[in-house]
Amino acid sequence: MAGKLIIFSAPSGSGKSTIINYLLQQDLNLCFSISATSREPRGTEQHGVEYYFLSPEEFRSRIEAGHFLEHEEVYTDRFYGTLKSEVERLLAKGYNVIFDVDVVGGCNIKSFYGDRALSIFIQPPGIEELKKRLTGRGTDAPEVIESRIAKAEFELGFAPRFDVVIINDVLEKAQEETLKVIKDFLAK
Ligand code: ADP
Ligand code: 5GP
Repeated sequence: MAGKLIIFSAPSGSGKSTIINYLLQQDLNLCFSISATSREPRGTEQHGVEYYFLSPEEFRSRIEAGHFLEHEEVYTDRFYGTLKSEVERLLAKGYNVIFDVDVVGGCNIKSFYGDRALSIFIQPPGIEELKKRLTGRGTDAPEVIESRIAKAEFELGFAPRFDVVIINDVLEKAQEETLKVIKDFLAK
């Protein structure tokens, strides 16, 4: 049977990565789509593991060559995008493909694949809790946290465009709910 696509979008700090990591450990034949970006690698990040790291020039020439399923320039020279070759590589191996993309990319992938894709929005219980989680994660400077919170208010407005909204209040409950909707979707 042809593989399916499962898209995750959420404001940063909602718990998307935590939930995706849990799902990747389940017996669902899922594989993570590695995105391309023109930002610099952070910490221990490696090319071909967290992202495909491309220079802005290379990213632009690959956009022109039509290599991207979707892409965005978040600000000048900072690109993120999903390579068609990455999705094809994983589908050819028989996997269901899981995406972690921003809200606009998520809507674009969903409209491209239609019923073959399930789009899931992970919603934090509130902005204050989001701030607490971002602070608790300890990966961002205070001004980065402020800009992520400001962006979150815009991103939360996209929730109704997703097939499923999961509120991540109690983590175990959110994980179970997500697992169930994915199992139902894959069984269809
Ligand atoms: P995202 O990938 O959406 O940016 P993360 O998965 O990195 O978010 O989660 C942000 C922080 O919040 C992490 O430190 C994570 O351990 C924590 N977290 C995730 N879900 C919950 C939850 N339900 N309750 C409390 N903390 C959570
Ligand atoms: P970071 O730089 O923190 O790794 O990621 C920043 C944002 O880029 C996150 O919101 C993430 O979901 C988004 N992102 C990562 N890969 C892609 C992609 O391929 N396409 C789009 N549209 N957004 C992406």
